[in-house]
Amino acid sequence: MKVITLVVPCYNEEKVLQDFYHQVTKVASKMREVTFEVLFVDDGSRDNTLSMLKELRRWDKRVRYISFSRNFGKEAALYAGLQNATGEYVAVMDADLQDPPSLLEEMYHVLENEDYDCIATRRGDRTGESPIRSFFARTFYKLINKISRTEIVDGARDFRLMSRKMVDSILSMNEYNRFSKGLFSWVGFKTKWISYENIERVAGESKWSFWSLLLYALDGVIAFSTVPLIISSLTGLFFCAIAFLTIIFVVVRTLVWGEPVAGYPSLVSILFFLSGMQLFGIGILGQYLSKTYLEVKNRPVYIERCTEKDVERDERYAQSM
Ligand code: UDP
Ligand code: MG
Repeated sequence: MKVITLVVPCYNEEKVLQDFYHQVTKVASKMREVTFEVLFVDDGSRDNTLSMLKELRRWDKRVRYISFSRNFGKEAALYAGLQNATGEYVAVMDADLQDPPSLLEEMYHVLENEDYDCIATRRGDRTGESPIRSFFARTFYKLINKISRTEIVDGARDFRLMSRKMVDSILSMNEYNRFSKGLFSWVGFKTKWISYENIERVAGESKWSFWSLLLYALDGVIAFSTVPLIISSLTGLFFCAIAFLTIIFVVVRTLVWGEPVAGYPSLVSILFFLSGMQLFGIGILGQYLSKTYLEVKNRPVYIERCTEKDVERDERYAQSM
């Protein structure tokens, strides 16, 4: 029998785990032709997530978990999940039921019967989102698709089912700054997109604030495009050209009309403007440098604190005493 691994990152999800588990078992009992492995990645939760996972594992050996030593972020959790997944097919999905497990059946049949390596989902619309957030999200997707060769689909969710080949190719990219939406697209493969209406999370709250999303978007731009560097160089060239023309203008004017140099206010504003542009350029450079710095340090993407194997070994050991 083929195995489908569900990779589920969880950060403080005690309120939704039970619901999620029930929905998944329902789907699993319908899909008798495959075996499920549900791999939860506890991303350093501060609530009862881990003890609930231990409990689930006690009842159901299809459940597995990895617990991090602290919060490393969803991207790290996804990476750990993909690394430890054993299935022929691997799905990544959120714990909050915003990614309906009921879609898995259809997704699996498409992968089995049609010539695709991946089924990905996107949200049909942005209802339930604040207009400002929608505006920024749309602008981000427009911008990044203009300046990056990797296509990043507007409204794409991380929820997708992939073949083993695709998972392995994603794992072959062991970069530290992981922007999954880009990585999934970068590796290529034939992807079928299905869309569904946006669903609110069942309980608990989103971990993304406006600022964290903005920073995440910047990460995406820097990871998948070097166009900002080119823009900063071109702006530099443009200002050099203007400076050259003004020099000629001032020299000619002084020689012909003999006017003394006046205009302290204009000088000050130009000075401010140019130093602003310079700092802006250095800032862009700094962003790339800082990413390179983190990459070069070669730190692990995540640190594992315990898995179901450790816990069960300890329990067996305790029993044998
Ligand atoms: N998540 C995580 N680590 C984090 C933040 C989030 O593993 O640092 C998980 C979270 O538990 C959930 C998924 O990522 O399963 C999506 O998070 P959330 O629902 O907060 O994001 P949203 O759906 O609002 O984009
Ligand atoms: Mg969510």
